[in-house]
Amino acid sequence: MKKSILIVTLGLFVLVAIVLFRTFSFTAPQLSNALPLVELKSDGKLLSQAITYETISHKSEMRNDSVFVAFHNFLQDSFPKLHKELSREVVNEHSLLYTWKGSDPSKKPLVLTGHMDVVPVDYASRNDWDASPFSGEILDGNIYGRGAIDDKGSLIAIMESIENLISQGFEPSRTLILAFGHDEEIGGDEGAKEMSRILEERGTEAWMVIDEGGTLATGIVPGIDGTVALIGTSEKGYVSLEVSADMGGGHSSMPEPMNALEAVNRAIYKLKENPLPDRFSEPILGFVDYIGPHLPFVQKMAFANTWLFKPIIFNTYKKSASGSALVHTTQVVTMFNSGLKDNVVPTRARAVVNYRLLPGDSPEVILGRAKDLINDTVVKVTIYDDFEVSASPISDHSSSEFEFLAQAIQAVNPEVIISPYLVLGATDGRYYYNITDKVFRFSPIPLKKDDLSRIHGVNERVLITGYAKSVSFYGTLIKNS
Ligand SMILES: [Zn+2]
Repeated sequence: MKKSILIVTLGLFVLVAIVLFRTFSFTAPQLSNALPLVELKSDGKLLSQAITYETISHKSEMRNDSVFVAFHNFLQDSFPKLHKELSREVVNEHSLLYTWKGSDPSKKPLVLTGHMDVVPVDYASRNDWDASPFSGEILDGNIYGRGAIDDKGSLIAIMESIENLISQGFEPSRTLILAFGHDEEIGGDEGAKEMSRILEERGTEAWMVIDEGGTLATGIVPGIDGTVALIGTSEKGYVSLEVSADMGGGHSSMPEPMNALEAVNRAIYKLKENPLPDRFSEPILGFVDYIGPHLPFVQKMAFANTWLFKPIIFNTYKKSASGSALVHTTQVVTMFNSGLKDNVVPTRARAVVNYRLLPGDSPEVILGRAKDLINDTVVKVTIYDDFEVSASPISDHSSSEFEFLAQAIQAVNPEVIISPYLVLGATDGRYYYNITDKVFRFSPIPLKKDDLSRIHGVNERVLITGYAKSVSFYGTLIKNS
C-alpha cells in the first residue's frame, strides 16, 4: 500500500515537473529584425471616394456594369503614375491585373490580391448606420462605408503606396503583380479564378501571394490584450448537404406513423447530436506555438502542454462561436422547408446543413459520415447546389516568405505579436495555389473586437490613422522585396 502511494506521488511529481519545465521553456519562434520602415502619409481621402462607388457583386445579369467601369476610371484618375508605370489588363470585363516589371528576372514575382466588389447593404439596416453606407463620410477620424475594411481599404492602400513609391523614384527589382477581383463575395469564379489561370498559363511562379483574410487584431485573441497579427496560412473548406424525404402524405386526421417532415427532422436531429470532433489543424498548432508564450501563466501552461491539456484548450475555445470554429468542422442547419397547411400531412421535406471544413475533412467524407449517421432509407442526403471545396492547402509558417511578411508587419507595428492562423471564411486566396505554395492572408487594417461585426454588417469603418499605417505597410513590403 505504502509503496503504491509512493509510486503515485513520484509519478505526479514527475508529471508536474515536466509540465512546469515545458511551461517555463516555452518561447515564441524568434523572428529576425523588422524591415526598414517606409513611412508614407495618407489622409484617407481616396479610400473615402472609392467607397462612393456601389460596386456590389451580383451574378452578371443583375450586376450594374457601369459602376465598375466608373470605378476603373476613378482608379485611373486617382493613380496616374501607377497607370503610367504598370501595365494593366482587364480580365472578364471588370477584374484588373497589373504588372510592375522588376529589373531582376531571377526574383520571383510578389503577388498582391484584393477585391473591388462589396456585399450589399441590407435595406432594413440602412437607418442603423451613423453615416450613409456609400457616402465614404468621415466621422471622428473614421472613414465609413461598405468596403472600408472588406476590401477597398487594402486595395486602395496598395495603390496609394505604389503611387507614392513611384513619386519617390523607386524602381522595383522584383516584379510586382496586382490581381484585383470583382466577384470575390460571390465566389471569385470570373475574377480570381480566371486571373490565377492566366498567371499559371504564362508560367508565373510567384514568390508569395498576399490576400485578405488575416488581420491586425486588438483585444480579439483570448488572453492577449495587445495586438496580434493573424496571418492566415489556410482557409476552411465549404460544403452544404441537402437532407430530404418524399413520402405519401394525406389527411392529418389519419396520419401514418412517420411523414416526410418528421423523417427529415429525425435525420437532422441525429446530425445535431453528433458534432464533428475537436482537433488541432496545422495552422492552429502554429497559433498555439506563436501565441502560447504570450498568454497568462495558466493558459500558457495549457498551450505549452497540449499533450495533456487539449480538452481544457478546446473547452476555452468552445466558449465563443469564432473560437469553436477554429477547432472543429462546424455543422449548422440553415434551411428547412416543408408543410403547406395545418391539416395536411406534407409529402416532401428538405433541410440544408452547411459545413465549414477543417484542413483534412473533405466534402466526400462529410457526405459519407452524414449518410452513415442518418442511416434511413426514406431520407436522401446529397451535396447541395453542386458547390463543394476542401480546405485550402497549408502555407508553411516556418518559411522565409512568412518571416518576410512578419518583418514588414513589425516594421509598421513594432509591438505586435505575429501568429499563423486558420481563416474561417472563404477568400480569393485559395485560387492562387496554382502559382505558389505560399499564399498568406493578411490585411494591415487594424481591427478591434467590435469591428468584427462591422464586416458585412452595420457601420463598417476604418480609422484614418489605421488606414495610413496600411499604406506604409504595403510601401515597406514592396520596397524591401
Ligand atoms: Zn473580402
